[in-house]
Amino acid sequence: MSTRTVPTLQALRSAPKVLLHDHLDGGLRPRTVVELAESTGYRGLPTTDVAELSRWFQQAADSGSLESYLETFAHTCGVMQTEDALARVAAECVEDLAADGVVYAEVRYAPELFVERGLKLEAVIEAVLSGIAEGKRRVERRGHRIHVGSLLCAMRQHARALEIAELAVRYRDAGVVGFDIAGPEAGFPPTRNLDAFEYIRVNNAHFTIHAGEAFGLASIWEAIQHCGAERLGHGVRIVDDIKASPDGATELGRLAAYVRDRRIPLEICPSSNVQTGAAASIAEHPIGLLAKLRFRVTVNTDNRLMSGCTLSSEFAALVDTFGYGWADVQWFTINAMKSAFIDFDQRLDIINNVIKPWYSDLVSKPLL
Ligand SMILES: [Zn+2]
Repeated sequence: MSTRTVPTLQALRSAPKVLLHDHLDGGLRPRTVVELAESTGYRGLPTTDVAELSRWFQQAADSGSLESYLETFAHTCGVMQTEDALARVAAECVEDLAADGVVYAEVRYAPELFVERGLKLEAVIEAVLSGIAEGKRRVERRGHRIHVGSLLCAMRQHARALEIAELAVRYRDAGVVGFDIAGPEAGFPPTRNLDAFEYIRVNNAHFTIHAGEAFGLASIWEAIQHCGAERLGHGVRIVDDIKASPDGATELGRLAAYVRDRRIPLEICPSSNVQTGAAASIAEHPIGLLAKLRFRVTVNTDNRLMSGCTLSSEFAALVDTFGYGWADVQWFTINAMKSAFIDFDQRLDIINNVIKPWYSDLVSKPLL
């Protein structure tokens, strides 16, 4: 078991992991993009060579701004406009996550982005749910188990949040576990969608909000104190409310203290943040400080295609940069499982019967 004493990429792939922030339209296999473009008649791809297209996605996403990063989604969404395409992408997503050792995932998407060819929102949601079910069956046939829920996003720049929130509640018993708003933060504060968040709350449903990625503390404050977000998508700018002195002393402002005291989960996506310029590098990423201060930090992929990453590779990058060991990987994983939008007894079951047994002999011995 010597290879399991250090969290190498290979060992991390076999560790049970939990993923809360992963976009369905950001995780397609490059080959699938090419094949779906051909079968659905989508003509907009920059190239139909699989390897070139794979590089193109990462380079375009690497441009340093959230707006350019979002442009890459024109192509993935462009090939996901039929029920078959949506189901295929969802099934492959489940297979890819399971192959990476993910045992619980919440995969999100905005149904309103897949209606260009006339699909109804309900048809989009049902196609994705059927794809997820198919993906789980394939994974089970290989002897593995994965639990996958979905989150419905409303796009901040559109005005359909209440409609999407209603759908999230309507489909909750079919596998939709929550609601989110996504898209450009600047100019679209979360308070524009108060009616949607209120609808979710009065129906005892769950939601997270993309906030504090490209935009600062005001966005986080609104998301929590005006909208009542249970989790923060990214939330990395909370670091702007923390004073760190050169001698290592830290002082939390009132908002940062509130987020930490209330154990509000931060869905942090390190590589994505570097690509969009929300952090200069992994080494300078606020996750190091936030984890040290014991915020409820979770590690996520955001968009596996655009970042060329997996959850295991995100952990490997953090291990390389911050020297994390298995105890840290387990801590991030349990943080994420505690923060999932499924029932308490189900969360506890995965923590006690899947996560802890796997990590137990690794974290009991101190690493050199
Ligand atoms: Zn995101």
